[in-house]
Amino acid sequence: MKTVKESLSKKEIEKYERKIFDLRQLIEISKGLNSTLEYNILIESILLTCMGQMQCIKAGIFLKKDIDDESFILHRNYKGFELNHNHDYIINHSSRLIELIAKSPNCLTFDEISRILPEDTKALITLSEINPILVVPLKGKGKLNGIIVLGERINELPFNSDEKEYLLDIGALAGIAIENAYLYELATTDMMTKLKIHHFFQTTLMEERENALRRETPLSLIFLDIDNFKLFNDKFGHICGDIVLKRVANIIKLNCRQNDIAARYGGEEMAIILPKSQLKAALVVAERIRSHIAGDVVLYDGKELSVTVSVGVSQFIPEVDKTNDDFVSRTDKALYMAKEQGKNKVCHL
Ligand code: GH3
Ligand code: MG
Ligand code: MG
Repeated sequence: MKTVKESLSKKEIEKYERKIFDLRQLIEISKGLNSTLEYNILIESILLTCMGQMQCIKAGIFLKKDIDDESFILHRNYKGFELNHNHDYIINHSSRLIELIAKSPNCLTFDEISRILPEDTKALITLSEINPILVVPLKGKGKLNGIIVLGERINELPFNSDEKEYLLDIGALAGIAIENAYLYELATTDMMTKLKIHHFFQTTLMEERENALRRETPLSLIFLDIDNFKLFNDKFGHICGDIVLKRVANIIKLNCRQNDIAARYGGEEMAIILPKSQLKAALVVAERIRSHIAGDVVLYDGKELSVTVSVGVSQFIPEVDKTNDDFVSRTDKALYMAKEQGKNKVCHL
């Protein structure tokens, strides 16, 4: 009697071997994508996986614009596409393009999409500026969580049906990983200020203290407190106070590096963890934030309000800062020095 292998043609064996190889690859990809909840690392690995598996020289990913904005925006880590880096490529979540991609059980070529949608559709115009060859939906839990756009390939061949199917599988894995990262982001973000919440701050500070010890790298901490904040509430109401808080938080975010962790410590007090930063570098960041806030005006009810912050900065000293509380209270001391010296100042220990 013939074995199963003997009864198959050479072509069929090759086909099954290819399938086994692809499945093994998918398991590896799945492991990789599920090993991080950090957006930027995740995006990088999704794009590099697609490029590597499909031999593409151009790849990008559209993701939800913000925690509370459902529109899709092209993430800035795109590869190979020559685009205007100062321009945001946004596709409205209620557009026909999104409806089409969300409903499609397959990948769609750009040609297929442009045959279906009227050419003056705003979302289609945005997509045509990028000019991808193939669009891959990222679905997780029945929802569209993102879109991968792929451009030319090294071999210049079109994507065949097996490859499109394989990309759909990668898209499904990536969609779930993105959804998990999104939920994690949601659970660790203060929705008013969009800064990290207190618990996340404490956990990260602990991890960064350990990293600093193990790698012998510097670590700094900045504490900020809005000056006379109660006055904004008392004079103009809590809505005004909230607007001031959001504006200050936004300036903090704009003036930090991607690796710095800005958190709302509580009330109108904010903290920034600066990994691999010495006191000198942290002081530059602190002064930049202080001066931006002082130079800004907040418009409220036809009035121009000026806001200032007092800032305390300190560098981690392993022999002294044995706990998070030790490090935080030293930084807090520097902050209170700034308050005592007349506010709108940066002090350090
Ligand atoms: P100082 O310059 O010494 O820091 O004075 P301050 O008025 O800023 O400090 P104080 O601690 O007296 O007041 C902080 C106020 O912040 C009290 C609290 O009601 C208000 N606050 C805390 N969280 C929020 C918030 O989310 N929204 C608003 N509008 N107010 C808040
Ligand atoms: Mg205050
Ligand atoms: Mg305070």
